[in-house]
Amino acid sequence: MVIIMSKESKEKDIEDIISVLDERGFDIHRSTGVDHTILGVIGDTSTLDPRTFQVYEHVIDAYRITAPYKLVSREFKKDNTIIRIKDVEIGGNETVVMAGPCSIESREQIMRIAEQVASAGAKILRGGAFKPRTSPYSFQGLGEEGLKYMREAADKYNLLMITEVMDKDQIALVEQYTDIIQVGARNMQNFTFLKALGKAKKTIFLKRGIAATIKEWLMSAEYILAGGNNKVIFCERGIRTFETYTRNTLDVSAIPIIQKLSHLPIFADPSHGTGIRDKVLPMARASVAAGAQGLMIEVHDDPDHALSDGAQSLYPEQFKGLMDEVRAIAEVIGRKVANGTTK
Ligand code: PEP
Ligand code: MN
Repeated sequence: MVIIMSKESKEKDIEDIISVLDERGFDIHRSTGVDHTILGVIGDTSTLDPRTFQVYEHVIDAYRITAPYKLVSREFKKDNTIIRIKDVEIGGNETVVMAGPCSIESREQIMRIAEQVASAGAKILRGGAFKPRTSPYSFQGLGEEGLKYMREAADKYNLLMITEVMDKDQIALVEQYTDIIQVGARNMQNFTFLKALGKAKKTIFLKRGIAATIKEWLMSAEYILAGGNNKVIFCERGIRTFETYTRNTLDVSAIPIIQKLSHLPIFADPSHGTGIRDKVLPMARASVAAGAQGLMIEVHDDPDHALSDGAQSLYPEQFKGLMDEVRAIAEVIGRKVANGTTK
């Protein structure tokens, strides 16, 4: 159930309601906005009558949320969530681009690629340091050494940093370096991990599971919000279908669907979504046209020798071209993409 309090309500009015609910054993999630405070009542609220709260002074409305995902839903919060990290605003009017290699391979590699993607207009540097792969015999990543290189590269080129965390025991270590924690597709329903991420300080980038429905994906985000962390970004990265031509099938329709059902931002990852370099640009165009609040793009300056995902990585020049095109598309739908530092 949601209880919306007017901006005239005093702390005491809010606390009175919280204590009534607390006595009855409910958890309360409080979200303080400019115009009102929203109290999210978590638990089996079937025994609560919204009318009991509607009569309180300063209560604008009280109603039940019908969706199984509560805190994540638009019913709970009607305005888009905007996540500000340093000088980057995610979920606002700018379509924010994250780019970089699949894996951090060396200090020199991440430094070079960071400069290239920053100059094309990317705001966030991506790269994996822990890379458990489909095969245990493939390259497994540089670990903490990679995180150090990536932080240095991100700081040098004024980029934020995103990297994948594989399990709950790694959160504390990776949080010392990264701005955003990526949850990989294969971990989307690792519920003990999601609960631990609810206690994390950093923003969570939640990739869609390879066979997850949109509802399951929303429920995974609910775990993180229910744990106390409201900073979640969805990322559509393709799902497994009967089609084998592409590595995955990028579900572009998930973008407007998530935006209808949730207030949280959604990005698209056409690199993993297609697995094929020359399909990344058209699907990036489509995602931006569909209203994605951001993109994740794999970029490598020597993809033939990349230690992972070379076949889907764009050359820096191609990435620059992609940025120019999505900038033009974003404008058509009243959004914008940052300019690069070089022309
Ligand atoms: C990645 O971003 O490099 C990655 C492994 O992504 P996913 O979890 O979507 O496969
Ligand atoms: Mn990859």
